Amino acid sequence: EADVTTWLVTGGAGFIGGNFVLDAVQRGIKVVNLDALTYAGNRDTLASLDGNPNHVFVAGDIGDRTLVDRLLREHNVDAVVNFAAESHVDRSIDGPGTFVQTNVVGTLALLESARDYWKSLEGPARDAFRFLHVSTDEVYGSLGDTGKFTETTAYAPNSPYSASKAASDHLVRAFHHTYGLPVLTTNCSNNYGPYQFPEKLIPLIIARALAGEPLPIYGDGKNVRDWLYVGDHCSAIRAVLERGRVGETYNVGGDAERQNIEVVRTICALLDERRPRADGGKRESQITYVADRPGHDRRYAIDASKLKSELGWAPAHTFEQGIADTVDWYLAHQDWVQRVTDGSYRLERIGTAA
Ligand code: NAD
Repeated sequence: EADVTTWLVTGGAGFIGGNFVLDAVQRGIKVVNLDALTYAGNRDTLASLDGNPNHVFVAGDIGDRTLVDRLLREHNVDAVVNFAAESHVDRSIDGPGTFVQTNVVGTLALLESARDYWKSLEGPARDAFRFLHVSTDEVYGSLGDTGKFTETTAYAPNSPYSASKAASDHLVRAFHHTYGLPVLTTNCSNNYGPYQFPEKLIPLIIARALAGEPLPIYGDGKNVRDWLYVGDHCSAIRAVLERGRVGETYNVGGDAERQNIEVVRTICALLDERRPRADGGKRESQITYVADRPGHDRRYAIDASKLKSELGWAPAHTFEQGIADTVDWYLAHQDWVQRVTDGSYRLERIGTAA
């Protein structure tokens, strides 16, 4: 038991955390999965792990020090990977408070638990312990038409979401410099892929396009995001966890800058090909422009050369391959989407904490 590599993964019922956990357990890692099951947490994503002794699901909050202290010790945890967060920019505009509570106050409590646990370790276990914090490129603010974010770009968050993530990144950094905690931080561009909550651009557009509904595009549709397939983000996190230099931050991105309108047109074309509309019409005709998001960042782009040259990471999916795979996944998993849309994903499984 003691020599099975064990990771405490927080937020592992969410989009990226869920993909990460499925992959880690597949690789023989034991995962203690701590998730508060907010609206974004979905145990359906983890259904294939039911009964697997290498997956221990715990419904709980990263801010619960008593719980986290116990989990770290009880399971002899080798690393903490922190995905838990409030993650949706639009929700942060409507209600910033929960973003500060989970992303800042919650991360601080998790850091304190990790620090105390790490200090109690001895010898090789203490040397090998890692705290990996998963963050976003949005902490760097917005770019003009040229240039890319590097690890030394000054932080300039513009939304309550990115401000709360920036604050958590600073706390992680401070815990390394002040207490010596062996931390790593990754700042990644926009993710897409299986199990993404259908409020985010790509699954939202797929769902509405299939339903024959209007496809809302903010502003002029020319905001640029650098898209990365979620599986490639997960492989980057593994590389940083296993080989990254303690105290460093690594930018993660796929060199796949696309305007929002291009992303939406690509999805429409893929769906027209795979599921032609009954009336033979083109789904592009469903596009409607809506008032822009307040403070909407114009362009994000990531320079991931540090991660590539130091750790030998490379994404396995081009945007074209990844988006086609994602459309196919959503077409094949309409039941997963349906249970989110009708709310039934919240009713079952809750309270089945191990
Ligand atoms: P998500 O919203 O899909 O999942 C977040 C998960 O955290 C949910 O399962 C939720 O229940 C859980 N959670 C929320 N508050 C919690 C708390 N207090 N205690 C325990 N669990 C809690 O988010 P995601 O898109 O999977 O993002 C995961 C992480 O990656 C976030 O930290 C986010 O900032 C970061 N990130 C996301 C993207 C992206 O494009 N989605 C890009 C870069 C970085």
